[in-house]
Parts: sequence; C-alpha cells; structure tokens
Amino acid sequence: MRTMTWHARHAWLGPAGFVPDVLLEVAGGRFTAVTPGVAVPPPGATRLGGLVLPGLANAHSHAFHRALRGRTHAGGGSFWTWRQRMYDVAARLDPDSCHALARAVYAEMALAGVTCVGEFHYLHHGPDGTPYADPNAMGEALLAAAADAGIRITLLDALYLSSSVAGAPLDGVQRRFGDGDLDGWSARTAALAAPPHARIGAALHSVRAVPAGFLTDFAARTAGLPVHVHLSEQRAENEQCLAVHGCTPAGLLDRHGVLAGHVTAVHATHPSAADVALLGGTRTGVCLCPTTERDLADGIGPGRALADAGSPLSLGSDSHAVIDMFEEARGVELHERLAGERRGRFTAGELLHAATAAGHTALGWADAGTIAVGARADLVAVRLDTARTAGVAPAGAVFAATAADVSHVMADGRLVVADGRHVGLDVAAELHSAVTAVTA
Ligand SMILES: [Zn+2]
Repeated sequence: MRTMTWHARHAWLGPAGFVPDVLLEVAGGRFTAVTPGVAVPPPGATRLGGLVLPGLANAHSHAFHRALRGRTHAGGGSFWTWRQRMYDVAARLDPDSCHALARAVYAEMALAGVTCVGEFHYLHHGPDGTPYADPNAMGEALLAAAADAGIRITLLDALYLSSSVAGAPLDGVQRRFGDGDLDGWSARTAALAAPPHARIGAALHSVRAVPAGFLTDFAARTAGLPVHVHLSEQRAENEQCLAVHGCTPAGLLDRHGVLAGHVTAVHATHPSAADVALLGGTRTGVCLCPTTERDLADGIGPGRALADAGSPLSLGSDSHAVIDMFEEARGVELHERLAGERRGRFTAGELLHAATAAGHTALGWADAGTIAVGARADLVAVRLDTARTAGVAPAGAVFAATAADVSHVMADGRLVVADGRHVGLDVAAELHSAVTAVTA
C-alpha cells in the first residue's frame, strides 16, 4: 500500500491544540502516523504551509438553494417571502439540472475545505408530485454529484407530508416533496443504496411538514440512523405548534420519542428554556447555520446555552448565502457576542470541533473529522500568508480566514483541491451555467 507523507507547518490536533511541525502519513485512505515536532521534513514529504485542519463537515445543505444567492435581497420581505422564491427554483428542477447544480455546489464546498456534506433532501418527485420512473432519481443525482465533486455525502432523505402544523395537505410545488404517508416514504427510501462515499440517513422536515400521528412510528423506523429535523427556526412555527398541540416543537418531538443522541435539530433558533433542557438532556445535537439565520432574519439561537445543556453543536451553510465554514464557525461566537454583550463565549477549539468532528458525527461518520491514527485521511490546509491571514496566529485563524484561503483539501486520502483549485472541475464555470439554467 502506497504511503503519502505530508508536513504541516502548523496543525490543529483537537484536544492537543495547535501544534507546530507535524508529519502526517497516509495509506489506504487513513492516517497511519501523526508525528509532532518534526522540524525537518523527510525527502518526499509534501510541505503544507499555514494551518492544517481536519476535514470540515457541512452538516446542513439544500444544494439547490445556491441558485438564490444574491437574488433575493431587493424589496425586503421575510423568511416566508424568501421561501416563495425558493419554491420557484424548486419547481424548475429535474434530475439532470439537480445533478449539475449540486455537483457545482459540492465542488464549491470542496474548495472551502468541506469533505462531507449532509444533504437535507426533500425534492423527491416530478412537477405534479408523480414519482419519476426511478422514484429516487433526485436523491441518486445528489449522491452522484458528491462523487463528482470528490466529497462524502450523507443523504438525509426527508419525510414531508403536510403544509402546516394542523396537517393541511401539500399544495403547489410542495407536492413534489410528499410520499403520501410514512409507508410510502419507507418503501421509496428502502430502495436507496449507499455507494462507498455515502451514507443514507433520514430527515423529518419539521413539525409543519409531518403530522404528529406519524412521529412515534418515524422514530421507531429510523432508530440509530443519522436523523435531522428543522426545529424552531421561526417563531411562527412555535406559535402554531402551541396552538395546535399545546406544546413547543421540541416538546412535541420529545412526547413522541424523537429526541435522541443520533438526532440533530437544525437551527433551534427560538427554543424555550425547557426546550434547551430537553435537547441537551437527550443529547440531541444542534446544527447552527449562522449565515443563513442572519440572511433570513431568523434570529440568534442560544448556542452557548444549548452546548452547556449537553447538545453537541455542528454547523451548516443551509441556504448557501455563502459557503464558508470559517464564517459559520465564528458566526456562532460573534452572534453570541451581539446577543449577550460579552466576548469569548466559545474557544477556537470549540468552534473548530463543531466544524469538524462534531459535524462528521452528526452525519454518521464518527471515524472522520480528526487528524489521528486510524481516522479517515481528510485534511484542509489554510494559508496564513494571504492578505487576509498574514500575521494571524494559527490559534486565531478561525476568526480571520475565509474559504478563499484554503489551498489544499484531501478527502479519504485523495487530493481534491490543490493550490486553491479543484483538481477535476471548473467550479465557477459550472456554477454559472447550472444557476443560469434554473433561474434565467
Ligand atoms: Zn434547512
């Protein structure tokens, strides 16, 4: 088995912190040796200046939302008016255009250091809700797109049955999302096979989209899988849930046994104090998406309180208003500062843990997201000699670097990005044509 050797001028090694001069050996897609304190690289080692991190996990993505970037800022509006624009794009997609767009978006993620994406997938069927000849044509387009881009994917296939907390039927483009009932969803998703770069997980779109009568059975059928659910992104969802069920969305999920350590609540922007205790007490993860939450005027989630209660935090770029996991990571801390008028609520190590190991774990890849012997050989080299990062200490890079400062990315031992360029795809050109095809 061929061994590749890399020398990191600085590396972040999780609990061991920021360490200089680390020699990394890789064979068979895994780290086989991690040796700090090697000042003189051996012959044949590839030198990586700057800071080397484990692979970043983007734990919450809707790839097609990337088509809306920079196109929804005129005229004000709200989350709900933005959602109508998003539905306009959803109405246009087919498996081919979905594949082209997702492949370009995942390649943009690779350029930003993302080695694994969690795709929260609900656009399942044809324009009027009729299944395609292959009922999983859209999901398989997403799996293929990640392979083309050179990253891993967890396809979080979403159950989506209703258009309101009260159980109103699906309407308009939403008919593309629905499988009729839980058995329909189970039968379709059972036919999905995971290639080596993929896992098949599950999602419960939200308490708006899944009537309460299905929740207990959904929890039983998805035990042990990575399961993600949108939770309390908007105050209106809480108000509707209280009106219909007399409890909050987190309370409703808990009542039906949905909350658990293999489950990730996405956003949790407006939880009550009791909700925070429920989420933390059940070790339910929380995926924060700060750049989307501010773009959509959702609000600021209580990240510190959730983490203190026991919820592991992960990060996602969700609507892809930007794709930059450094911006997501520091957004968690910086939003806390704005909300609480105090600095230093999260350490750099906590923010990087959310962006790496915790995100991979939330997506079902517990053997990724760390630079350690036996772990999947993912690494991200961040330059510390650009106009943005020159003079920045390695321990402060998460507060200064951008996706544009990523020079090299390796996923499962394969180089995906070299010298800031994707090794296989012209990412900007593919994004341009894929976005134009669904918006022009
Ligand atoms: Zn989402």
